[in-house]
Amino acid sequence: MSKIIYIAGLGHSGSTLLDMSLGTLPGVIGLGELKTILDDRTRSNHYTSFCSCGKKAAECEIWSRVPDLFSGISSRVERIEAIHALLEKSYGRPIVMVDASKNSYSYLGELLRTHDVKVIFLTRDVRSWSYSRHLSTGRPVVYFVLRWVLENHKLRRRFRKMGIDPMWTGYEELSLYPELLMQKISDFCGLTYAHSMLHPDNTNSHIFSGNVARADPEKRSGWKYDARWMLSGRILLLSPLIVSLLRLHKKYVYSNVLHGAMKHFYLFGTARKKELDKKFN
Ligand SMILES: [Zn+2]
Repeated sequence: MSKIIYIAGLGHSGSTLLDMSLGTLPGVIGLGELKTILDDRTRSNHYTSFCSCGKKAAECEIWSRVPDLFSGISSRVERIEAIHALLEKSYGRPIVMVDASKNSYSYLGELLRTHDVKVIFLTRDVRSWSYSRHLSTGRPVVYFVLRWVLENHKLRRRFRKMGIDPMWTGYEELSLYPELLMQKISDFCGLTYAHSMLHPDNTNSHIFSGNVARADPEKRSGWKYDARWMLSGRILLLSPLIVSLLRLHKKYVYSNVLHGAMKHFYLFGTARKKELDKKFN
């Protein structure tokens, strides 16, 4: 039974970069949205796209071999195992795969029954996510605020039903405190943290579906925060609605840096400042 790190959550929350960061560790290979690749029709739609290894998917050392590898195999579980065996043969070592198929519930249920799965639930601050989606699609910000609430609620309910205990991880935490978060994620997944995780560009992953950030040299070079929402009047006007989501934000987006009260906030909390004052002032 191969081991899979599964990244769940809404799209456009940093999953591609996290997938690539994990793939910088020896023996870890990110595969993007694996569910898309397992399906012959959806995979072929993406075959003209560039893989994170720099080659087109159809020419990539892994994905170019998949059509032959899958011939005669129809079950998803067997196809995953075939990819795993191919990776172990190509890299000559045990491999942990990263799957960023996000909110595909029935597929995740299948993986949980058949594989050793660690689930990371990646959530982006509703202000940042909604404004970014608004800029990309032209749809009203409030539409995305409501969608964020409904989709995340659905995900949490499904997780509870499936008995999943994920690691709650925020895009904001990852972008602003990447070293701390990568250490915590490594611990959760049973991996050994390395500084390489701060530079997704060094990835060994093969990702050709999902966010095009995988091919952007600037975005690949390190974790950077998309702060556009801070300049948005629309977001300010929605504050009365967004304030009701504070509890969800604390639990799902900032739980790794906010330890109870604000005075215990990672690095900048006043509790630490007082301790340092006593010691050094
Ligand atoms: Zn590749």
